[in-house]
Amino acid sequence: MGTDVNEKVVPGSVSKSESTPEAIPTKTIEDDFHPAGVAELDLYQKREKIYARHIEGFYQRIRLYTGWPLLLGYFLLPWLNWGDRQAVLFDLPNRQFHILNLTFWPQDFPFLAWMLIIAAFSLFAVTAWLGRVWCGYTCPQTVWTAIFMWAEQFCEGSRNQRIKRDKGPMTADKFTRKASKHIMWLGFAFLTGFTFVGYFSPIREMSFELFSVGVGADGLSWGLGWWEIAWINFFTCATYINAGWMREQVCIYMCPYARFQSVMFDRDTLIVSYDYHRGETRGPRKKNVDPKTQGLGDCVDCHICVQVCPTGIDIRDGLQIECINCALCIDGCNSVMEQMGYEKGLIRYTTENELDGKKTHLLRPRLIGYGIAVLVMVSLFLTSLMMRVPLQVDVIRDRGRLYYETVDGLIENSYTLKVMNMDQQSHEYKIAIEGLEGITIVGSEQVIVDSGEAAEIPLRLSIDPVNLTSMNQTIYFVIESIDGSDYQAESESRFIGPRI
Ligand code: SF4
Ligand code: SF4
Repeated sequence: MGTDVNEKVVPGSVSKSESTPEAIPTKTIEDDFHPAGVAELDLYQKREKIYARHIEGFYQRIRLYTGWPLLLGYFLLPWLNWGDRQAVLFDLPNRQFHILNLTFWPQDFPFLAWMLIIAAFSLFAVTAWLGRVWCGYTCPQTVWTAIFMWAEQFCEGSRNQRIKRDKGPMTADKFTRKASKHIMWLGFAFLTGFTFVGYFSPIREMSFELFSVGVGADGLSWGLGWWEIAWINFFTCATYINAGWMREQVCIYMCPYARFQSVMFDRDTLIVSYDYHRGETRGPRKKNVDPKTQGLGDCVDCHICVQVCPTGIDIRDGLQIECINCALCIDGCNSVMEQMGYEKGLIRYTTENELDGKKTHLLRPRLIGYGIAVLVMVSLFLTSLMMRVPLQVDVIRDRGRLYYETVDGLIENSYTLKVMNMDQQSHEYKIAIEGLEGITIVGSEQVIVDSGEAAEIPLRLSIDPVNLTSMNQTIYFVIESIDGSDYQAESESRFIGPRI
């Protein structure tokens, strides 16, 4: 493919048509009126296609260092094994979430809720401190969109080539380039969808099933289950549409974080900003002329910062909800400053206070509050996780009959004991009853339960009626491992006898 990956930024060489890009046409209020003077209101804003210009620089290298580990982690994690099972597997049919050496059951739902609360507070803290750094560097929408934009540039060429080609008629070359781009997008989207489903269904088995197509009496059959096919298709389409077609619209219109992040900002939050005092008055000038002698600031009004912006905004208009803090405009502007022989940083990470010549406060009540909340919650979460007992017991009393009286005159109650071994190894447990003097278990008092299994044990308890002090007494089933692992769990139930 003919590409111009490293479009050189030469301020003097930026033509008028490039510097005022067609991608961002200006619209006057008269455009919204018919000649008869009747206003036409658009309920939905029409999307203007953004042709983002490729740029390299310091922050784009950082984005590479944060994006690649995330991508590799996402695609490789489901292929790792822990013992004889997938290291990370959210096994919905068996209602077990395996994460490395831990297995979470539905009873562990509070841990999940807790993790989400910690993630939310961490995001608040990071946003108050560093602004939308999550959006610019680690959000999957940003990382995947960057891959899709790279594929677009690889197949269709530089920004200028793409604009020109899109304006021109469909030719064999244009068709081939566009088709290649969509094939690359779909291929990557499929890998994304397949991997995502691989977190919920064993990925190694799925990869064999993917290629096992057979023809039987019922026609064509495929190794993959129907729901796996459905979800792979769904996530393939979602990735293709979100990262290929919708891009910045997801950030601007769909992402709730973009909506509420402004309430977390203050004048000390680090944001990507244009230094208005230094840049204005903006305007073109010759390279080796002191701009001050012409009454100009450092901004040469080249529009490079607008052309590289993936959301199509002009950062010189101030902080905007569309800005995802990706710093592309910083790298773009810095390359211009370098070529003009000016100091870098006309657009930079800064705070509103610093721009106004005031001191930036790193430690401020809001940030300290978020930090303490995160620290306390993480400590409590880790403590609970370490104290978590991978054993659970439930008791269901036989409701068919209140009690039995044996030929020996003893009183018996029937129960079903459900012992869940949530550990990675099988264990042997001893069953004991507490809370009622003289009560005994009829049958075996020991049980072996395999790892990840829930054993249902029918059980009868027997007592001499002379030991009963009331017809309805509280008892406790205490289950204790007897193989040295020292796990214990208990469950409360009732023992019913004759009226006393
Ligand atoms: S204004 Fe700059 S930081 Fe904000 S989205 Fe555009 S390029 Fe990224
Ligand atoms: S802020 Fe920088 S990149 Fe943007 S128009 Fe001015 S000089 Fe060009």
